[in-house]
Amino acid sequence: MGERDALSWLDDIADARRAAGLHRDLLARTPGSSLVDLASNDYLGLARHPEVLDAAATALRRWGAGSTGSRLVTGTTAEHELLESELADFVGAESGLVFASGYAANLGAVTALAGRDALVVSDAGCHASLVDACRLSRSRVVVTPHADVDAVASALASRTEARALVLTDSVFSADGDLAPLSALHRVCREHGAVLLVDEAHGIGVRGEGGRGLVHEVGLAGQPDVVVTATLSKSLAAQGGAVLADRRVRTHLIDTARTFIFDTGLAPAAVGAARGALTVLRREPERAAAVLDRARDLARVTGAAEPESAVVSVILGDPQVAYDASIACRERGLHVGCFRPPSVPEGTSRLRLTARADLTAADMATIASVLTEVLSSAVPTGASSAVPTD
Ligand code: PMP
Repeated sequence: MGERDALSWLDDIADARRAAGLHRDLLARTPGSSLVDLASNDYLGLARHPEVLDAAATALRRWGAGSTGSRLVTGTTAEHELLESELADFVGAESGLVFASGYAANLGAVTALAGRDALVVSDAGCHASLVDACRLSRSRVVVTPHADVDAVASALASRTEARALVLTDSVFSADGDLAPLSALHRVCREHGAVLLVDEAHGIGVRGEGGRGLVHEVGLAGQPDVVVTATLSKSLAAQGGAVLADRRVRTHLIDTARTFIFDTGLAPAAVGAARGALTVLRREPERAAAVLDRARDLARVTGAAEPESAVVSVILGDPQVAYDASIACRERGLHVGCFRPPSVPEGTSRLRLTARADLTAADMATIASVLTEVLSSAVPTGASSAVPTD
């Protein structure tokens, strides 16, 4: 008998994904590329800001290329502690704790605050990192329909567990819509539950000077609200954070596995995030500029009025969305292409992200490319993706 290829099943899956228009390519950026970026999360245009780069370089030279250990051993520098207090101060929280990524912050916060004796109630639109956090929590998990506060209330009302944790994104990453935070908080208060809000797409965009949606709706500093954040979008660096009551911070240091067993955030990323925060504090108008540019993008594409940096142009079929994204790229525009499982079946889309630093020349390129590409990309079940009026 000949030798058998133990990985042949991967070819079958790859072929099936390609046939369904669901294959994924890694599109490497190359130096000197002139593509206009409508795909990144660099909402405030700070990833290459000279002050941010200088702050990263200074931290790199002062502390080294890596943090050298886990946070509890050698991976905490004075720079980490400064970033934690600056982030907490910015969003109006009592304390901050930095993780190696936003993903790790969500896994760490949820698993440490939930457990077998807790109920976790999670919005159906929550980010994959919160979905995975639910799976790791060992709690009973109720997934409620998107933005359905009544469903959250009834899940909490019928609970038998001692504690409860309600999870939501503040700005949902695929559609860019906002969570009903005030109503969710009222329900949580009534039932003694903690509300955990992932502000990955909220910080830098929503709220006064980019302080986030929790701040905007007046919930900053509430002890029963836990904010998680990423440093990789508006804050132009890499890493994550939990911004919350001091007791939450202490508990996470003692018990959050993604904090304890992961190497501390690299010093350059800590420095970059601090640099970005300094620029944002000095230039708070950057946050409003993101929303202005998002509105411009919506006008060009006929998408609904945006509430965040995210503008989704739904095309339906995954192959149609993929082909449209490639056509944009060939014409000088880098756009996101979201297909299942990132979004529900039938809602494959171009996902455009606004940036505060898009210029008038960028906007002219964007308008002409999107008008051309979308006029030939006929969405499933609709006649055209471009507005006809
Ligand atoms: N939450 C949300 C809503 C996100 O969009 C992301 C990143 N895509 C994360 C968490 C994870 O953050 P990070 O990339 O820093 O791991």
